[in-house]
Amino acid sequence: MHLIEQIYIDGAFVTPHGTEWFDLYDPATGQVAGRVRLGDVEDTHLAIASARKAFPAFSRTSKQMRIALLKRLQEAVLARVDDIAAATIAEYGAPVSRASWGAHYAAETFLSAASTLETYAFTRCIASAQVVMEPVGVVGLITPWNANAGFICNKLATAIAAGCTVVIKPSEMSALQTQVITECLHEAGLPPGVFNIVTGRGDVVGAELSSHPAIAKISFTGSTAVGKAILRAGADTMKRVTLELGGKSPTLILEDADLETAIPLAIGLGFQNSGQACVAGTRILVHERHLPEALRLAKAAVEATKVGDPADPETVIGPMVSEKQFERVQRYIRLGAEEGATVLAGGPGHPDGLGGYFVRPTVFSNVSNDMAIAREEIFGPVLCILTYRTEDEAVAIANDTVYGLQAYVISPDVERAREIAERLEAGRVVINGAPHEPLAPFGGYKQSGLGREYGVFGLESFLETKAILGDKEAA
Ligand code: NAD
Repeated sequence: MHLIEQIYIDGAFVTPHGTEWFDLYDPATGQVAGRVRLGDVEDTHLAIASARKAFPAFSRTSKQMRIALLKRLQEAVLARVDDIAAATIAEYGAPVSRASWGAHYAAETFLSAASTLETYAFTRCIASAQVVMEPVGVVGLITPWNANAGFICNKLATAIAAGCTVVIKPSEMSALQTQVITECLHEAGLPPGVFNIVTGRGDVVGAELSSHPAIAKISFTGSTAVGKAILRAGADTMKRVTLELGGKSPTLILEDADLETAIPLAIGLGFQNSGQACVAGTRILVHERHLPEALRLAKAAVEATKVGDPADPETVIGPMVSEKQFERVQRYIRLGAEEGATVLAGGPGHPDGLGGYFVRPTVFSNVSNDMAIAREEIFGPVLCILTYRTEDEAVAIANDTVYGLQAYVISPDVERAREIAERLEAGRVVINGAPHEPLAPFGGYKQSGLGREYGVFGLESFLETKAILGDKEAA
């Protein structure tokens, strides 16, 4: 039984003022596996005060000092990747391959931020003006449970590169990961107050950060519904926001693709992180002419997908994070059948021999893009296969969504894939399953978000732009 009783304020682990306890569950069994004591509004105020106190000195630190801090943070997190991965598996049932990738990603984010910082010019001349980029102020960082450690690290790394101090509100469901990460960050020995971590409820700690006048910016990753609430809450104080929200990503399998490889790739893109990924390719588009072959291969690919013990390296799909998420996935599987789609593989209920929050990976055929299963983010291993007759129609279906986070194109003809990529309304387009690029911008079109993370685009979202006129040196 895990017991987490402290939060982190002003360089120290402290007992929160808040007295509410929150249960942590083992998603593989549905049993309570731990308890976490939550911070409250008063804790949030203390954390904000600490970050404010640290800001004047930290915002004036040199690039070299911040690069050195980022490298120390990377080393501290890298030293604990196994513990981070173990917490991720215990907490939301992430398959071990994903958990291990995510833990290394968390450490890498500090090096990526350091490399961006090394070449970034905070001062430049534009005509007669000197333009200076300055840290935006105290930033609130709010993370989701499905990549809590990685997002804490990436957002903190960017804030440090920019010279901002922060209050982090991790997902209350990720207290084990947060505990390990906090120990790592503490180990790196940053000046007190540069980062503060208050685990608490979204509608308490998150809401307070989103409306508090001393918070200049919120960087949030989570659902579109909460992203909208944060935008509204921040309007009065005109907060800067970076919002990384939900998705309903299309995977376009072009007519010339080899289906034997394209279909398993597309199924894998949809089942990333047990389907609990904002970037999951949940709408698979195939040419009408290829449908029978595509269905045969998709059924085989789902049947070959191992569901079960997340600690088993063969496992692709672990349990859903919570009972609520389990029920949500069940509801959509029932809804798909009610809407007239055909269950090609999977279906409602638990997989054979598994309980807890495990679901059956499910693929629907006979789907039209106006069905709820094709429009709404399910956040589980539930995919739709849709057909198109022309590339124009494929692009139109792909873009017919309120989301626009990521899209995938599969074709042996990379030039052709690239032409299609240019027509897709998405912040990232991945051709033939290319790997993540940590320095390229990431973020959504439309209701998938506002702003971008990573690299120069991410750094600049933590900076204000000031033009100084009349400075002789500029011209
Ligand atoms: P969520 O929106 O329920 O919660 C995210 C965070 O917001 C949590 O820390 C939560 O406590 C907090 N929160 C809740 N209510 C709040 C409020 N009123 N004010 C401020 N904060 C509040 O999302 P989740 O269930 O943790 O994560 C899944 C969602 O995140 C999915 O929609 C997924 O697509 C999205 N996501 C997006 C990305 C991306 O990069 N675009 C990455 C991962 C997950």
